[in-house]
Amino acid sequence: MVRPPSKTPQPGQPVGRQPTALMTAVKAGRVNQGRVLQALHDFGPLSRADLARLAGVSRATIGSIVQPLLEGGLLAEGEPQRGATPGGKPARPLWFAPDSPPLAAVHLLPGWVQAALVSADGKILATARGSFRGTDPAATVVDCVVDRLNAVLAGSSARPLGVGIAVGGIVESTSGTILACNLMPELSGLPLGPLVSERVHLPVHLDLHPRAQAIGDRWSGPGRGEQSFASIYIGEAIGAGLFLNGAIHCGPAGAGGEIGHTIVDIHGRTCRCGQRGCWETIATHDWLREEATRLRLPTAHAMTTALLAGLSAAGNTDAKELFERYARNLALGVVNLQQILAPGLFILHGDVIAGGEALRGRVERQARRYLPTRSTAEPQITFGAAHDHATLLGAARLVLSHSFPLIG
Ligand SMILES: [Zn+2]
Repeated sequence: MVRPPSKTPQPGQPVGRQPTALMTAVKAGRVNQGRVLQALHDFGPLSRADLARLAGVSRATIGSIVQPLLEGGLLAEGEPQRGATPGGKPARPLWFAPDSPPLAAVHLLPGWVQAALVSADGKILATARGSFRGTDPAATVVDCVVDRLNAVLAGSSARPLGVGIAVGGIVESTSGTILACNLMPELSGLPLGPLVSERVHLPVHLDLHPRAQAIGDRWSGPGRGEQSFASIYIGEAIGAGLFLNGAIHCGPAGAGGEIGHTIVDIHGRTCRCGQRGCWETIATHDWLREEATRLRLPTAHAMTTALLAGLSAAGNTDAKELFERYARNLALGVVNLQQILAPGLFILHGDVIAGGEALRGRVERQARRYLPTRSTAEPQITFGAAHDHATLLGAARLVLSHSFPLIG
């Protein structure tokens, strides 16, 4: 009897679409390099032994990670610390070199751009802002980005290592292209990275805005010291950056993070992306203004989270109901993310933070209401600081993550 070929993979037979290594050596090297830089940012100057321990890499590996950073002028060895290694050679702490090259960063949202010059140890040295109309052609936006970049680069005596650009839109990080931007369709398909690189003569690394925001949160914001958290931007659009088990999560070529377009109601309103019932259709300011108008609330056409919080606190019954409903709608995206990945900590940025503690507490309560009770994994909601530099810092950090070769 001839048996049909078995569809069950046999031992030794490749599984999955393409047989691949569990983690490529390059990816593992970048993760380790990132951990070493993060340990320095978290703890300050460290000996190689402490750096290896705190970054979770082996003593054998630490040399191959640190050497290119020393040779590239990013790190320097400090004065020997006597007594640090009893009986042995005094340890020389590693820290960012005083003359280490700076990093340039750009945060680009529809209608608005901010550029910054950032030191390797995370200090904002200069910033410049610009604006443009949502209907402007892509060339005008590129000019605005380059102009603001040149404004901050003019103040730098040292040549920056490169430019990190954080963009609100769907990106392809490998080619530096904005694949789609629902709020400013003129930018869809724009190879912004190469265009800016050509004009400023520096390497450019482009990524999703909320992912850069998460990197910035981990560097010096509410995510500092955390092993896992989600950083969510909620304004005219919604996106998320995920920091999971000590590393930023990123799909192929920058994919993922489009939590605003996860569907929460198949019969819901039509979204800008063309689908129905995306989270964005019930949790952005557009929704808030529409609902406020329907309820005939004062200043409904210009309703913001801050105005709604004020009306609710003043006892307006309709405003109170809408405020609670808005908090529930915000919580739904948090609930879905917590059910799948359980990041535990949710750092919210954007217009939503103007709702203050009244909104933060409501979102947290609503999120817990929809989640199974687990004494060790209650979701925590925190708001980023108003006008913080999380995204610019994260964009600058993209440059650090791509500038030094890996050896070993
Ligand atoms: Zn959508």
